[in-house]
Amino acid sequence: EAAPTPKLWFDGVLADVDTLQADLTTHAMHYGSGVFEGIRAYATAEGAAVFRLPEHMERMRRGAELLGMAFDVDEVTEAVLATLRANGHRDAYIRPLAWFGAGGFGLDVEGHPQHVMVSTTATRVHLSGARATVGVSSWRRNPADSLPPLKLCGAYVNSILAKREGKARGYDEALFVDHDGFVVECTGANVFLVKSGRVTAVEHRDALPGITRDTLIALTGAETRAVTLDELLDADEVFACGTAAEVAPIARIEDRGYGDNPVSRELATLYARVIRGQEPAYRHWLTEI
Ligand code: PMP
Repeated sequence: EAAPTPKLWFDGVLADVDTLQADLTTHAMHYGSGVFEGIRAYATAEGAAVFRLPEHMERMRRGAELLGMAFDVDEVTEAVLATLRANGHRDAYIRPLAWFGAGGFGLDVEGHPQHVMVSTTATRVHLSGARATVGVSSWRRNPADSLPPLKLCGAYVNSILAKREGKARGYDEALFVDHDGFVVECTGANVFLVKSGRVTAVEHRDALPGITRDTLIALTGAETRAVTLDELLDADEVFACGTAAEVAPIARIEDRGYGDNPVSRELATLYARVIRGQEPAYRHWLTEI
């Protein structure tokens, strides 16, 4: 028997994914006027649950607000849960997107309809679980005073450029460093370092305030501060973190190889327990489907 067609939530209705279409004059397609999230659900002993759903919804709401888009947190929250249920997912990656639709080619968003969709797919890990190699990008991260670090669609062209360059140079990932030599983040993940057993979360105004980063700070009591590339290269361990990447130990940055990252691996194991509901103190971060 053929697998059922995946369902996608689109403007208030759950429909078969292959029945849905978007207009070619979609404003967001031309100008990036949309906002999205990347969220995960995990199988726990009490059933599937979404990790830190309210925090993801709040970040998406802030992006929508910046674009002048109405955004109903309760509605999108319910849409996420309904889509997961409809697709019978347990371990899943969840992609809500809100965007401005068809209309004229002017930059004004007024007059363009707003749309919301939620797609869920079986889990993927974008750093593929293996220890990543990272190249230092020649591109600068979008400066926060030009494009605030939120998950705005158009902002990701900046990540695409860095990722393309990193891949072309033979690396898995790219690291953004600012004009003064301070580390910003990777293309879709935040950065931490470990030195003499001490865990430090890289802080930078141009970096996305990651929910995984916030989680790991809460779990470890890590300090947060600005870090130069030189300091990162001098660290004992470096790892990237994000909803998709989870905790991803880094094998090498340019010519600087790291060891087997024992602290990062220990943190990855703890994070894996937390997201699967195996740490009672953090069960409140999970929303049951
Ligand atoms: N930085 C960027 C640019 C990202 O796209 C992501 C993924 N959302 C992150 C960092 C990590 O954020 P989070 O932990 O909230 O997924």
